[in-house]
Amino acid sequence: ICLYRAKKSGKGCYRLWDRSYLQDSTPERIQIESELREGIERGELILHYQPKVNAVAGELHSLEALVRWQHPRLGLIYPDSFIGIAEESNLIVELDRWVIAAVAEQQLAWRKQGLVIVPVSLNVSASHITRADLVLLFAQILNEHPELANYIEVELTETAIMADPDQATISLNHLLHLGVKSSVDDFGSGYTSLGYLKKLNANTLKIDRTFIDDITEDGYDRDVAKAIIALANSLSMEVVAEGVETKAQWDLLASFGCQYLQGYYFSKPKPAEEIARLLASQK
Ligand code: C2E
Ligand code: CA
Ligand code: CA
Ligand code: CA
Repeated sequence: ICLYRAKKSGKGCYRLWDRSYLQDSTPERIQIESELREGIERGELILHYQPKVNAVAGELHSLEALVRWQHPRLGLIYPDSFIGIAEESNLIVELDRWVIAAVAEQQLAWRKQGLVIVPVSLNVSASHITRADLVLLFAQILNEHPELANYIEVELTETAIMADPDQATISLNHLLHLGVKSSVDDFGSGYTSLGYLKKLNANTLKIDRTFIDDITEDGYDRDVAKAIIALANSLSMEVVAEGVETKAQWDLLASFGCQYLQGYYFSKPKPAEEIARLLASQK
């Protein structure tokens, strides 16, 4: 597909050429959408998993599932290149449903291998959280596999939540009753009404990576991160800093009372087989 104008970026992975190009509603865009639809049916999506660690010892706490598209010709395509297109069509619903089922299957498979599993969070799109069938899907999976309660979690960006905060509150509370905890993703990058934060019953705040990037040099970013950690603590929520790439960032965040960290310093997102080895080494 020349339309992808793929550019090689690193180890056999591709980023699509140009964001503005993808934003057009060109026939090419429609072609990506239909290729993705077929790709989902053909089983071309895969998940990588990135550890979240505790800030005291850097030990594995939980995982985040991140989708990739294993394209037959282009190789591994990252979600920033296709989630947007999927979100503008109904395809995101299928994609999210695939991810939810795949995480459940993976957790069951790891268990079957005799591994001690940890909670895995997955990302849910804005357009999906307002749909009743999302809660229903989780209800079906947990009804069939009650042992997965508390081992599957959802992440929702604060922008997604604020698009329809009342419906998001209802959905997240339903999920919580099923044993599915939730995180507010990219916190600090949008505008969450603090009035909703308590009502949401979300378990965790994830500090947006943009505040972590320059945290050791930029006083403003440092103050924002510190304030989010204090806010989470005062609301009895857990807090995760994402995008941690250095020991200096780790030390600073730990000194602010941040409980959990996620980022390349600890691990990049990895295929399931590598995570299996990591889980095995935990025992
Ligand atoms: P996100 O949920 O904020 O996920 C974190 C992104 O930051 C991931 O990119 C991850 O690989 C990257 N990251 C983690 N640690 C570091 C670090 O230390 N430094 C840097 N520079 N980056 C780091 P990824 O996997 O490309 O995913 C991008 C976005 O695509 C995600 O952002 C999420 O919004 C979306 N996404 C990923 N998987 C899914 C999915 O299954 N469903 C939906 N609806 N969206 C997804
Ligand atoms: Ca996320
Ligand atoms: Ca995030
Ligand atoms: Ca993000």
